[in-house]
Amino acid sequence: LNANREPDLPSYTTTPVDDIPAVRGRLKDVFKTGRTRPIQFRKQQLLALAYLIKDNIPLFQRALASDLRRSDTETFVLEIGGTLTEAVNAYHNVAKWSKPERAPWSLNWFATKPTIRKEPKGVVLIISPFNYPVWLLLRPLVAAIAAGNACVLKPSELTPAFSALIAELVPKYLDPESFAVINGAIPETTKAGQLQWDHILYTGGSRVASIVLAAAAKTLSPVTTELGGKSPAVIDPSCDLKLTARRLIWGKVANAGQTCIAPDYALVPKGFVDQFVQACKDVLKDFYPEGAESSDSFCRIVSASHFARIKGLLDRTDGQIVFGGSTNEEKKFIEPTLVTGVNGDDSLMGEEIFGPVLPIIEVDDVDEAIKFINDRDHPLALYVFSPNSAFKSKVIENTQSGTVVINDTMIQAAAEGLPFGGIGPSGSGYTSGKFAFDMFTHLRSTLDNPGIMDYIMKFRYPPYNEKKRKL
Ligand code: NAD
Repeated sequence: LNANREPDLPSYTTTPVDDIPAVRGRLKDVFKTGRTRPIQFRKQQLLALAYLIKDNIPLFQRALASDLRRSDTETFVLEIGGTLTEAVNAYHNVAKWSKPERAPWSLNWFATKPTIRKEPKGVVLIISPFNYPVWLLLRPLVAAIAAGNACVLKPSELTPAFSALIAELVPKYLDPESFAVINGAIPETTKAGQLQWDHILYTGGSRVASIVLAAAAKTLSPVTTELGGKSPAVIDPSCDLKLTARRLIWGKVANAGQTCIAPDYALVPKGFVDQFVQACKDVLKDFYPEGAESSDSFCRIVSASHFARIKGLLDRTDGQIVFGGSTNEEKKFIEPTLVTGVNGDDSLMGEEIFGPVLPIIEVDDVDEAIKFINDRDHPLALYVFSPNSAFKSKVIENTQSGTVVINDTMIQAAAEGLPFGGIGPSGSGYTSGKFAFDMFTHLRSTLDNPGIMDYIMKFRYPPYNEKKRKL
């Protein structure tokens, strides 16, 4: 861990609330000049963003060690590698993505050259949460740049080391006239949310999403939401148990469970729970042989209030803690914890846990598991552990979720070429690769109608006499 190294990270400062409208106004003026539109400019900025990340990997790792006590390896594997790939992919594809498209040929319309122009929306606002600051702030920035927009970034106040670093690096690497960072918490984000934006991407919790959406409704700013929820894991007793436990527990303990697509709870058939719990315990002992509290490979909860929230859920559970359960308020440490005998109305089932606690819910069979899932909000992710195609298809075809992964967890966020997004209360819109480019792009329908077409089209002009009525 780098947290104790001599800190040469910048210090966090909040953007004055009264300056925020001017930041947006300045970018709006720049956008109108056309500065951000040329493909050459976009490619140059995408390359600069890739270098912003690549040149500063140790600083990002140090910042996240300070904010989350996260290991350097986890920061690289979960955030930095994927964000770099996204920037490089966009660099190579931006010209192709931005090319105007002709509408399908039609006898009625071909002479008017119907064309779809891929145009930037304008000045976009990206509001991101604390849990994967590089990935959730800079990956959408890749898409905003590729689509030719100017962009304001609002990182989370809960990761002050990262947010200060990004505020310092953005103007050094990117065009400061077209890209800006606003730092701050509720007052600053509230102020930003009151302004009119050409698009807002909000990633975070559903409570704040409602506030952002309500503010955006007043200015008619379009919003994409990337939210969370309770993502289930459905376990088939014929699964490869060791592999299942390893992949499921990894999804639960990475970033100390503070992941939007972490498996939130497991639905395990009656009679299989003891074996399943034993396999999970074995994995936890392998991952943290000296215990998670002293391990450099295990994160801390980001803030005192999130710590108190998760501890409160654990204190109130009616289930049995069969592994872990210890906490340390001063260190914001919550031990990876397995809880059995959990019912649907337990404290652990009332909200997204967002911590390293796995409730295990016993079900009779796959039908009961499906009903349990369908009785709740559509989750962002659904995980199915089974070797059996009929079992997998049954779960997938009878449920809804933002994404679904078979026999693994979390990998869908990084898989190139797949859309990433929620459904219903877990969010709307897609924030990966070309799908994110599309989110920040306006499809501008364009027709160019030659005068000669009036030989065919003049029936539309008044007066609507008898002859025209017969047409
Ligand atoms: P959060 O909603 O508390 O904060 C997100 C952002 O909103 C921050 O930038 C914060 O400054 C701002 N904010 C907070 N209160 C606000 C208010 N009253 N008005 C306006 N803005 C406000 O989220 P968090 O705790 O940082 O992140 C955790 C949540 O994010 C979880 O629910 C998780 O599932 C979700 N998430 C979703 C995705 C995804 O891609 N779908 C990814 C990561 C996290």
